[in-house]
Amino acid sequence: MKVNYLMPTRIIMGENCLSANRKLLAGLGKKGMIMTGPKSAKTNGSLDDTVRALSENGQAYALFDRVMNNPTDICVFEAARSIKAGGCDFVIALGGGSPMDAAKAAAVLALNDISKEELFGLKFTGALPLAAVPTTAGTGSETTPYSVLVDTTGPDGKSPREGGPAKRSFGSPSTFPRFAFLDARYMRTLGRDLTVHTAIDALSHAVEGMLTLRADRLSDALAAEALALLGACYEGLLNFPAVPGEFPTEIREKLLLASCIAGMVISQSGTAAPHSMGYHFTLNWGTDHGRANGLLMKPFLRWCREKEGASPVKPRIPALCAALGMELEEFFGILEKLLGKRERAAPAELEAWSAQKMKNAANTYLQPDQGEILRIFREAVG
Ligand code: NAP
Ligand code: FE
Repeated sequence: MKVNYLMPTRIIMGENCLSANRKLLAGLGKKGMIMTGPKSAKTNGSLDDTVRALSENGQAYALFDRVMNNPTDICVFEAARSIKAGGCDFVIALGGGSPMDAAKAAAVLALNDISKEELFGLKFTGALPLAAVPTTAGTGSETTPYSVLVDTTGPDGKSPREGGPAKRSFGSPSTFPRFAFLDARYMRTLGRDLTVHTAIDALSHAVEGMLTLRADRLSDALAAEALALLGACYEGLLNFPAVPGEFPTEIREKLLLASCIAGMVISQSGTAAPHSMGYHFTLNWGTDHGRANGLLMKPFLRWCREKEGASPVKPRIPALCAALGMELEEFFGILEKLLGKRERAAPAELEAWSAQKMKNAANTYLQPDQGEILRIFREAVG
């Protein structure tokens, strides 16, 4: 039995955990760059708490609040320039996966004078220390080393890759956040769709994580715990109240912890085919990342179940169902209700996407070929 697991992030959860543990931030440096999106951190309390903690510690700060959803290569180079110009020596990310991922890249670029290709090729020697404060519960970016960015141009710097912008990622031991502060209060402002879609992202990390070549007993144990926590949230998610602030805090906390644990899963296992496939929905239609994975989950799992029956590979769907606490068809029923009306693609679109290289398909325990990818796409949104 082999296990090789790294989790260097100190995870602290609880109401007011950032303020209560502000001394930890004092060890990160003299001046912090707070990286966030344009709006939500200013209204959910995370920015105020961070500024107060830094001020009470006697630390200076600067603010970069221009991280867009699905951050681009251009954005992270700009943020790195701001970090250097401001003389910042550490970074704090407030927000969903987008600010956390952008912060990881900027923390590398601020220390290393490298090109975009060198960034994706891991040709760097380290990163500024980073603290992550998630304000969505889905990506688990606070406990992964990964930074997912939109590459707006091709490796040649001119032509768009494969006919358009592409999502690419990198990650190294130096891009794990030093600290993750999990406070569910920051999620009170998160509306129904973002809450549900990010929860489905966490769900997809745990589910896909169990179906990768890199999965091991440790990542499977974490996935089972994440799925148990998520299983206790389905009913609440299906009955999301008209006022987001009335969504029970106990459910928000379960989602936040599940997301964090599912991040620990994929930091070991990586994700499977649906994550690469779903990037096409996000890039072409603007579909939320978690929703994109959710649209693909049912046809992907059906394909896995069918393929397992005809393959010598040890079946994994029974263990997944045990972790879900239900059979796949029951799970699909819940998923369909959470997703609602599905997006539909033109046949030519799906054929074009299937022909492109899918990085995560190669990490799937049963590796789908191009025809099988097309079939999964068709069943999802055809
Ligand atoms: P996001 O793109 O970070 O944020 C989506 C929207 O949610 C933004 O408009 C943001 O507003 C808003 N928002 C954030 N927190 C809020 C709150 N508490 N209340 C109200 N609105 C809030 O969404 P995400 O799903 O968390 O992240 C998706 C990104 O993460 C994608 O790029 C995906 O590829 C990546 N990802 C990374 C990993 C990883 O391991 N690193 C894993 C999965 C996905 P503002 O812009 O105003 O803040
Ligand atoms: Fe994801």
